[in-house]
Amino acid sequence: MSGFVFSEKPIGIERGEGATLYADDGTEYLDFGASYAVASVGHSHPRVVDAVTEQAEDLLYVQASYPVEARTTLYEKLATVSPPGLDNVWLCNSGTEANEAAMKFARNATGRSKIVATRRGFHGRTLGALAMTWKDKYKKPFEPLAGGVEFVSYGDGEELADAVDEETAAVFLEPIQGEGGIHSADTAYLQRAREVTEDAGAALVFDEIQTGVGRTGSLWACEGAGVEPDILTAAKGIASGLPLGATVCADWIADADPEHGSTFSGSPVVCAAANATLDIIVEEDLPTHAAEMGEYLMESIESADLPVRDVRGQGLMVGIEVKRGANRLLRDLALDEQVLALPAGRTVLRLLPPLIIEENHADRFVDALEGVME
Ligand SMILES: *Cc1c(COP(=O)(O)O)cnc(C)c1O
Repeated sequence: MSGFVFSEKPIGIERGEGATLYADDGTEYLDFGASYAVASVGHSHPRVVDAVTEQAEDLLYVQASYPVEARTTLYEKLATVSPPGLDNVWLCNSGTEANEAAMKFARNATGRSKIVATRRGFHGRTLGALAMTWKDKYKKPFEPLAGGVEFVSYGDGEELADAVDEETAAVFLEPIQGEGGIHSADTAYLQRAREVTEDAGAALVFDEIQTGVGRTGSLWACEGAGVEPDILTAAKGIASGLPLGATVCADWIADADPEHGSTFSGSPVVCAAANATLDIIVEEDLPTHAAEMGEYLMESIESADLPVRDVRGQGLMVGIEVKRGANRLLRDLALDEQVLALPAGRTVLRLLPPLIIEENHADRFVDALEGVME
């Protein structure tokens, strides 16, 4: 084998359906990470598969300078479901690229360069987005990164107010930090971020790549807080696994006419997958379902009386703080209990299951956790 970067697990996956992945030896795995929060409506949802198949038969690709129905529909759909005032859509191929674009668009619209980001934040791994990411482990070997990024404590409104000034192009925030360990900001903090950016003429960017498309109990986590950013970025669960990132912008950002581009921007097949995925999320009201299931899941974990430090999160974005060895627990969950989940640092198990899970899936997860924690 010649792949590198990812350390592969000894489980070859062949097929997926709903919250279940089937290995090549027939073993069933419960996918409680939704494969990095991607399988939001479940694996290989038939409506998404049909939409992709039909589009592939008509046209795999045409450059974004020529309108094609699947892409035009997605532009409209994203503008409709995004918070009010965000009507201008840029499409790309990943979360990190969506944030790179947001960074460029904010600098272009403000004529400024400074970016304020948060400790423990995660915004991606290309050299611009990486500069806004907190962890040294991800950054140090690759320096110098894009300059002009200042970090503040997540959740501290006054520190943020002090950092944002007349030179600030943008503030980048995750409404709930994912990779950083599932930490929620309170509504007052997000409101304060809105105030200070507005006063300084800086763009407020919400990175909803992990929190978005229904995961936290509303379509966007910022909706729950009632705070509207100037730019919202989305990816992960938006197209059921086909590569798509979106940067949705207010008029003042888009009207500044940023020079930007990408060959694969809004590929029709990818757009067809996103249209079907978003339709399912909206029609089946999966955000509400995620809120209910998230509450059930967190209550079940808490009442199981396990040796855990904390259970926290919102909707189906749940962190379980353990004393140590999250990676070992995750390995045991996978190999002994056939349950897949994700880490967030060394002490947090991160659960991002498909939004379609039911109580029996949550029960199975809790049983599995009891099994490996005994
Ligand atoms: C995953 C993630 C990214 C990066 O997305 P990629 O598609 O992996 O490039 C950025 N921000 C947040 C909050 C994420 O969870």
